[in-house]
Amino acid sequence: MTGKSDAMIPFNRPYLTGQETEYMLQAHAGGQLAGNGPFTKRCHAWLEAHTGCHKALLTHSCTAALEMAALLLELKPGDEVIMPSYTFVSTANAFVLRGAVPVFVDIREDTLNIDEALIEAAITQRTRAICAVHYAGVACEMDTIMEIARRHDLFVIEDAAQGVMAGYKGRALGSIGHLAAYSFHETKNIISGEGGALLINDARFADRAEILWEKGTNRSSFFRGEVDKYTWVDVGSSFLPGELIAAFLWAQLEHGEEITGRRLAIWQRYHEAYAGLQAAGLLRRPCVPCGCEHNAHMYYLLLPDVEQRSALIEALKSEGIHSVFHYVPLHQAPAGRRFGRACGELEVTVDLAERLLRLPLWVGLESQQDRVIEAVQRRLGA
Ligand SMILES: *Cc1c(COP(=O)(O)O)cnc(C)c1O
Repeated sequence: MTGKSDAMIPFNRPYLTGQETEYMLQAHAGGQLAGNGPFTKRCHAWLEAHTGCHKALLTHSCTAALEMAALLLELKPGDEVIMPSYTFVSTANAFVLRGAVPVFVDIREDTLNIDEALIEAAITQRTRAICAVHYAGVACEMDTIMEIARRHDLFVIEDAAQGVMAGYKGRALGSIGHLAAYSFHETKNIISGEGGALLINDARFADRAEILWEKGTNRSSFFRGEVDKYTWVDVGSSFLPGELIAAFLWAQLEHGEEITGRRLAIWQRYHEAYAGLQAAGLLRRPCVPCGCEHNAHMYYLLLPDVEQRSALIEALKSEGIHSVFHYVPLHQAPAGRRFGRACGELEVTVDLAERLLRLPLWVGLESQQDRVIEAVQRRLGA
């Protein structure tokens, strides 16, 4: 048995494929460090080929991609966007920046994704969009959500920050809603430190997205030779990352299958190891509905109550294992109360947020994973 004396097992450790620095040197040698160069174009082509989206644009972050989505929808103050409360702040903030109101609905007990059965009750005259967050890379019930949106003439934005290389009924997450956002933050599966992408599935948004991305200019058309000078044509900002980030990301995308495969193996090992604890009623494991092809973004456990969760986090810490809880529901946060509105009591959100614990999951954990598995089993007494 191993104990405290061993090195701490971190919750996350960014994985490097080994190609990153070489590609960054190549970007430098090529003479372009500003964005939208050869590596950016390679990343765009990869994202378009692997998701089937109409167009992909790299951004500084998923947050920036969500902000672009809010700009593209031309949301006005008072417009409403339906979303889960159990999500990262950027899901809401991107819309709040436009004066829109996040309307929080409860999540499903099984996947912790927005409960599609509660969406229609939250729709008002001001509703413009639904933001679906694919928690842990497990898809929301997108067929139902798209159908509700179609019936009420709403847009769907996928916050697929955690959903890179995951699928829903054979389609890539990020390729289903009108717009979608990916994250390449160092805590996600495929990384560039900070980074993200906007995926455009509704072609109507494509030209304007490129303009917003390039500070409100038609610079991209100019480089393609479509116009003979470039100028200020719309609102916009600098949403594009430089080539060094794109070069780093390219190394990761090239190894995307391998990274996902290794994460899935770690996830599966946890899942099998804890089957007995679930059968004994001591915890609940993640649930992946049929038709969802997840990407092993996260392995979490749901403990019976908040006290047992805190005790397990402490116990693991004393054995040198870093486990963490996750979101404070946005409708309970100071800014969430100020800018948003809850639709109903959100009982599932409040309950599960207190009981969820995330275990370390990163490529390279394989050799130490038994330490985590055994520590949890020992503490929960099975
Ligand atoms: C990580 C995350 C974000 C933010 O991603 P950044 O790239 O850090 O901006 C947004 N939404 C969800 C659901 C996330 O998990």
